Amino acid sequence: MKVFYSEIHRRHDPPFEVFDGGLRVPYLENPDRMERILKALRGVDWAEISAPTDFGLEPIAAVHDQEYLDFLTSAWTEWLASDAEDKSTLLPATFALRRQPRRPKSLLGRAGYYMMDLSACIVDGTYEAALASANCALSAAQAVTEGGKSAFALCRPPGHHAGRDYAGGYCFINNAAVAANWLSAKGRVAILDIDYHAGNGTQDIFFDRDDVLTISIHADPDFEYPSFIGFEEERGRGRGLGFHHNFPLHKGTDDAAYLATLDQALGLIGEFKPAYLVLSAGMDIYAEDPLGTVKVTTNGIAEIGKRIASLELPIVVVMEGGYANEALGRNILALLEELK
Ligand SMILES: [Zn+2]
Repeated sequence: MKVFYSEIHRRHDPPFEVFDGGLRVPYLENPDRMERILKALRGVDWAEISAPTDFGLEPIAAVHDQEYLDFLTSAWTEWLASDAEDKSTLLPATFALRRQPRRPKSLLGRAGYYMMDLSACIVDGTYEAALASANCALSAAQAVTEGGKSAFALCRPPGHHAGRDYAGGYCFINNAAVAANWLSAKGRVAILDIDYHAGNGTQDIFFDRDDVLTISIHADPDFEYPSFIGFEEERGRGRGLGFHHNFPLHKGTDDAAYLATLDQALGLIGEFKPAYLVLSAGMDIYAEDPLGTVKVTTNGIAEIGKRIASLELPIVVVMEGGYANEALGRNILALLEELK
């Protein structure tokens, strides 16, 4: 199985993030996550790890707003040139009230306009890391179009919370969406998002489209991030109506309940008859995850892989979240062993 990974992710290493109540905590989406997964992959004989190809900006700009990408490009340099007291990470304290049509000019104004929360911290190297991460997803997509049964994009930063013109939830460029959009020129695509959190960015990007089916299984936004999107009644819009599905989960969802929900999602994918499947693989569904509340075990993750494999589709596996670092390696192996 081809695995695409770039060392450039190390350059994105924010010193902290801000939790509810203003609490500064060490950045959970940290480089150590990749170390754990790489170590596991290096211990098996079927993972062929290589650096991604550079696809340029075109496939990324096909999914993201150009002015948003311009903001990501220059934000750090502008931040260093600003008169802020603590420049360790760019974070705004003021956010757009809903979305106003006028884009502000100041750096912090744009940051509040283009960010949805206090976890999309921008530091030196964030944009370069996000570009490399998107190239991992594109390289994995290319690998399956060249006959690979599946490929794994070991992406960092993750992507599924990033919308067309906003960052959030540790995400800046929506890697799965970029890969899926690139694949959609070659055939119908389904995206299945199994990260613990709703794939709001992916939902937003494809909400009006009928050629890319998007399905997200996640903790109910009534109690979990991202709070405002990911509800069951959101089904797509216009010609995209009926081509998006959310499956909100209760706290404490166990393997059996999770798998029953997964079977419904897989049934919808089967009916759609896609040529390709993009799997947003967040491992924060794991029972011990510090950000999660569902109780999926490592065996459960293996069974998820097995059932997805039964679709017999070319699969691009894209790394999303997962913060129980010590378990990340074995959980990713459990999934990929079934999909390789
Ligand atoms: Zn997540």
